[in-house]
Amino acid sequence: MAIEHFHDEPTSLEVAMRSCCPRCGEGKLFKGFLTLADRCDRCGLDLSFAEPADGPAFFVMTGIGIVVIALFAWIAVVWQPPIWFHFVTVFPALILGCLGTLRPVKAWLVAEQYIHKAEEGQWASLGGHGEGGFGLRGRAAEPSSED
Ligand SMILES: [Zn+2]
Repeated sequence: MAIEHFHDEPTSLEVAMRSCCPRCGEGKLFKGFLTLADRCDRCGLDLSFAEPADGPAFFVMTGIGIVVIALFAWIAVVWQPPIWFHFVTVFPALILGCLGTLRPVKAWLVAEQYIHKAEEGQWASLGGHGEGGFGLRGRAAEPSSED
């Protein structure tokens, strides 16, 4: 089935900020906090292609972790506050930072999957043994006589 393209498709950044459909930019992308809708309620785009897996969680934890821990380390060295100060600032910053950015990052990755038509790798593209590429019997494609 060919994918129709709309004239005013949103950019992946717009999809991330508005959590909208990557094709029409109007329908909702999520039916829960992080649960993707089955299809767009405006244009009917089947969202079953969207499977960012652990990607959003990895990027969010890494990014927020680096920023918050760098800030924590700088404050610990410069001001040397008591340990309770870190407990009431660092943990909430990590939790709120991750929860606040997880949904936009997931929407962004889904939009990138849609734009670049990303899908799971197919083993068939590599060819069987001796049938294509570099199999057990060597090169399957001989150089043409025009070379
Ligand atoms: Zn749509």
